Amino acid sequence: MQPIERADTARLSKLRGLIFDLDDTFLDHGELKAASYRALSDLREAGLTLLVATGRPAGWGEVLARMWPVAAVVSENGAISHVRSCGQVRCIDEWSGAPREQARHSLERIAVEVEREFPELVRTDDALARISDITYDVGEYQRVARPIVERASERARALGARTTVSSVHMHITLDPHDKATGCLYVLRTQLGLDTTTARMTFGFIGDSGNDAACFAAFPASIGVSNLSGRPSVTPKWITRGARGAGFVEAAQRILAARR
Ligand SMILES: [Mg+2]
Repeated sequence: MQPIERADTARLSKLRGLIFDLDDTFLDHGELKAASYRALSDLREAGLTLLVATGRPAGWGEVLARMWPVAAVVSENGAISHVRSCGQVRCIDEWSGAPREQARHSLERIAVEVEREFPELVRTDDALARISDITYDVGEYQRVARPIVERASERARALGARTTVSSVHMHITLDPHDKATGCLYVLRTQLGLDTTTARMTFGFIGDSGNDAACFAAFPASIGVSNLSGRPSVTPKWITRGARGAGFVEAAQRILAARR
């Protein structure tokens, strides 16, 4: 990883969009700071297409897609998207209807088994707004030791689920998407960009293990300095600032490269 100030100006100047994570990247311990939102606004005014990629629920995705200057919010680690078009916001769930109901039923059975073996796991307080996954609070309001999170994840995988761990949550799901495939699906089907063009012209900024897929997929990848959770792929560049300050720093570097 190289400091963001050493990033290639020509490369940054060619970015047409930025995908960003929320928790501990754009938000500071869950709080949206004025400077972070101003930086987001500045990026939009400079003409960049903005996408959120988060493990947070689809219900949040819908609200943010309606309020913020973003083209789409990819939520639940890639499974669900809310896309803004012609002044409206549409929900994209590839499994909507009967397949979703079946998947939900199977996932609930796995969750009950995991919770029986790991009583330390408490479901998140945003569960009602979720469509595709079941999520445990392992660092937001609860503290769960990492070895327990790792063993519980292993058990969920043995039962047939996929797992993702962020700085605050452990997710179990039967959906095939991760943040990168979810974003690329939206960029291809909703914004008309082929996958290679999307990968080469969109940057990504994140902080955690559940951002590894995007660090791998988008060569212009940035980590904020509080990068945690041992992501299997690390970002190309790293900021000096943590969380929102890191986001602002990256935005300013991108904007400077365009001038
Ligand atoms: Mg995060």
